[in-house]
Amino acid sequence: MIGNVPDIITISKWTENRVQDRLIARIISKTIITPGLLHRFNLHPDPLCIVCNENNDISHILLKCRKYASFRVILWNKLNIVEPNITYDVLLSHAFTNKKNLTIFIQALKYFDIS
Ligand SMILES: [Zn+2]
Repeated sequence: MIGNVPDIITISKWTENRVQDRLIARIISKTIITPGLLHRFNLHPDPLCIVCNENNDISHILLKCRKYASFRVILWNKLNIVEPNITYDVLLSHAFTNKKNLTIFIQALKYFDIS
């Protein structure tokens, strides 16, 4: 366990394949490719979200970005998250509670332009 988040070995028993395992590992370690992360390695000119003008990292996209507000409401509902303002770790603890939530979370990522 990493806080309330199960470790990758536990989670990998629920995933369908290695591509999903790698995606989950990148989400947990916040090394998923976003404009904000690319900017840290000088590969992208602008780290800021064009809608919100905040650092466009995975945490911003999933938790804060106004561009994805409607998808966030649906995802929070499906994962039984009642508090709109949560931390990244709290989101992951809900997303990785069990195989059902993991599947919901992985399917939702494409709506956040993450996959
Ligand atoms: Zn934004």
